[in-house]
Amino acid sequence: YYQPIVCAHSNRVIGAEILARWEHPEIGFVPPDIFIPVAEKTQTIGLMTENLLRRVIADCQRPDNVLPAGFIFNVNISHSHLSASDFGTFAREFAAHFQKFGQKLTFEFTENEQIEINGDILQKLEIIRESGIAISLDDFGTGFSNLSWITSLSPDSIKIDRMFVNQISPNASTPLISCVIDMARQMGIKTVAEGVEHDYQVAWLQEHDIDCFQGYFYSRPLTFGDFLDYFRQDVMTQHLRMPPLPRDISLQH
Ligand code: C2E
Ligand code: CA
Ligand code: CA
Repeated sequence: YYQPIVCAHSNRVIGAEILARWEHPEIGFVPPDIFIPVAEKTQTIGLMTENLLRRVIADCQRPDNVLPAGFIFNVNISHSHLSASDFGTFAREFAAHFQKFGQKLTFEFTENEQIEINGDILQKLEIIRESGIAISLDDFGTGFSNLSWITSLSPDSIKIDRMFVNQISPNASTPLISCVIDMARQMGIKTVAEGVEHDYQVAWLQEHDIDCFQGYFYSRPLTFGDFLDYFRQDVMTQHLRMPPLPRDISLQH
């Protein structure tokens, strides 16, 4: 499934996060929070991620695909996959495939699990960068983030967890998000707000110079066909949708 990522400056869909779905013939959809840990434990997560990216490549080859060059696909990478010996080959192979289509790949690493930054991991991060893949630090604020870790990972973007975005309400806000956005800007890192569900959150985040949005306010994760419909509609209505909000309705902070 594909969930739109929207640029806060242009209000346009610039990318999508790829989210794994498993539809069991008898029990229906199994949540990824259930099957991903199993795939990690059984060391099948690498294979699952490869298959997921192959599906994306197949979707991009559909005749009705209208996604432009430079469109960004974000994929979640588990730490156990990053630690595997064949990870470098995986990264190079898929970077080449996506480059062939003129599309960009971002690897998201969650900070919920701690990665021990050793020589092997640093080498793999280097391979990712050399291959032209961007790095994003996912679920920021919920886990093990510390400044030395961020420096080692040197992410292109950080995704502020929805737990913090949730704290923005019509009559309250959190100074933490604006601190994170300021810190990221000073380090040259882009910021993505996750789990955006309300217009007042969009207004507050825009006021505080967030770079990108993701969340149900824009769209739930969609099948590729539905995602293309959403994208086409976005291209047609981008100048009408989400006009800049007047400053006086923004929240106090
Ligand atoms: P995540 O990477 O943080 O992905 C975002 C999750 O938040 C998705 O849940 C998405 O459907 C949900 N979400 C997006 N916008 C909103 C919103 O506005 N409100 C709320 N309440 N939720 C929102 P999903 O698809 O159930 O995935 C859960 C987690 O499973 C992901 O969290 C990620 O950690 C993991 N996951 C999913 N697909 C993959 C995958 O292919 N590989 C790996 N390693 N992990 C995956
Ligand atoms: Ca993610
Ligand atoms: Ca996340």
